[in-house]
Amino acid sequence: MALNTLFALLAVASSGGATIAVEDVAPHNKELSSAKYEGRLTLSPGGTLAGDYIAAQLKASGVKPGGDDGTYFHHFPVTFGFKAGEDNSLQLTTADGRTVEAKIDRDFRPLVNSASGATVRGQLVFMGYGLNDEAYDDYRGADLTGKVAVVLRGSPVGYRSVSNAEKAAIARAAGASGLLVVGKARPTDPELPQYTRGQGIGQLEGFVAAAVTSAWLKEATGFDAEAARTASHPEPRELNASVSLRTQLVPNTGMGRNVIGYLPGNDPVLKNELIIVGAHYDHIGRGEVGSTSGSTEIHYGADDNASGTAGVLGIAKYFATKGGNRRTIVFQLYQGEELGLLGSQAWAKAFPDKLQRTSAMINLDMIGRLRDGRLEIYGTSTSPAWREILQRVPMPGIKPQYAPQTRADSDHYSFAARNVPVLFFFTGIHPQYHNEGDVFELINTQGLAQVASIVASVVQEIDARPSKLPFDPQSIVGNQAGDRQGSPRDSARRVRIGFIPDMTGQTEGVVLMGASPGSPAERAGFKAGDVILEFAGKKLSSLEDLQQAMMAVKPGDKVKVRFRRDGKEQEVEIQTEQRG
Ligand SMILES: [Zn+2]
Repeated sequence: MALNTLFALLAVASSGGATIAVEDVAPHNKELSSAKYEGRLTLSPGGTLAGDYIAAQLKASGVKPGGDDGTYFHHFPVTFGFKAGEDNSLQLTTADGRTVEAKIDRDFRPLVNSASGATVRGQLVFMGYGLNDEAYDDYRGADLTGKVAVVLRGSPVGYRSVSNAEKAAIARAAGASGLLVVGKARPTDPELPQYTRGQGIGQLEGFVAAAVTSAWLKEATGFDAEAARTASHPEPRELNASVSLRTQLVPNTGMGRNVIGYLPGNDPVLKNELIIVGAHYDHIGRGEVGSTSGSTEIHYGADDNASGTAGVLGIAKYFATKGGNRRTIVFQLYQGEELGLLGSQAWAKAFPDKLQRTSAMINLDMIGRLRDGRLEIYGTSTSPAWREILQRVPMPGIKPQYAPQTRADSDHYSFAARNVPVLFFFTGIHPQYHNEGDVFELINTQGLAQVASIVASVVQEIDARPSKLPFDPQSIVGNQAGDRQGSPRDSARRVRIGFIPDMTGQTEGVVLMGASPGSPAERAGFKAGDVILEFAGKKLSSLEDLQQAMMAVKPGDKVKVRFRRDGKEQEVEIQTEQRG
């Protein structure tokens, strides 16, 4: 015990930076972004596998379980998308009286927004791709009254993409009372479309629609949809079979799982304080939510956020091996982030007592793409202690981009909004954000280890301090100055301009994402893409410069703002306001 304490004191005195090896982070990043986990969607089998993997890694490192009932899992309810209800059926009767039954989720699946608890019966008519453009018309005035249209999923080669919703509306307009879409739009698609709004039909009162596999339709009717697909313009034809289709969809509810472990502190008093290191491990599956490409391929989420998850696992192993932490360090890997910070919100709501004792929460979300050493660190305004802590942390080769605001788009927000000091580490946005291109091959594994090392060093610095970090009630929780109400502390806090700065990839000045509605900035005509170069006579090279410049002005002051728009420099006078 005594030796331990001495060791801890020595560690504090030397205060060297932590070093986490590439081998302690990269393999986790690679594993979690492999196809096995299918994009780690919350409530999906791949998402569950990912949770199991993470829990096993924490256990192997010697981190104690911090979830429900002595497990590593903290459960919380999630409602996302739809699933089949009890009442779905599809039967086909051929001209010779043979009846073939389809099996739900194997042979067919109702499309989202299909009439619930309604049955449609009718002759099946194949209608090609089910389009009726001037350039490509499968219907040519056909009357489908009392019939059910069968159309190929997807679009003809070289044609625009066409949604199931559009095909349903066309079939309905032609008199059809139901629709079957058949086959895969792309070879990489799953056999049946997902239960998401994106692949459903529109709101068509009483209209019944489902997807079927090509294999089932061929077996049931002899009609080979895949062969038809190879024709340059598949010809409509009667299928000599009638169908009875009944659909029922219900909201998909289940339990999400945060994975939580901890290393108890060794100080009899300080061990009651928590330092939380967190990252979300869920992603968007096959693009079920928030895909930037619309693809149904696996969205691997190597950077978002297998990288942050790997970072937390590396940091957990580092502290478990090193020991000597005075405070309790908690490792939290959240699910449901991509659905709206569900996991972190659930935890923060469930444990207000633990939040009270939390010194800081550090979030790692997308830390796998370090480029030119640019590391974005948000939330520096949430505690007056951050500046000193960050100055003490060695960051060789890193150009830290400090930002006072927390942003609201990742899990640290669940904590900052409840008065916990936060930092959010982020290596920046990229073209593969939320699409199938976010793969492990593009991860800067050396950079990932560097960021993890920096975060571990920050944790050490927090642990070395004599007391809990104070939360700054005036801090900028959210995306912009002015998001949070509070009593004004100094003139800079009272001034409202309404710039909404863009923190990603700025090289000079302050790039705006927009201007707050009703603000002086909006009235002065500022808009997204404007680059603020000078404010009240001060040249700006960062958001911190802007904050500094704002310190010097009072509400009601008229200040000159020089900015660049479309390559042209301009100047405008703006009158600041008192913040509400
Ligand atoms: Zn994301």
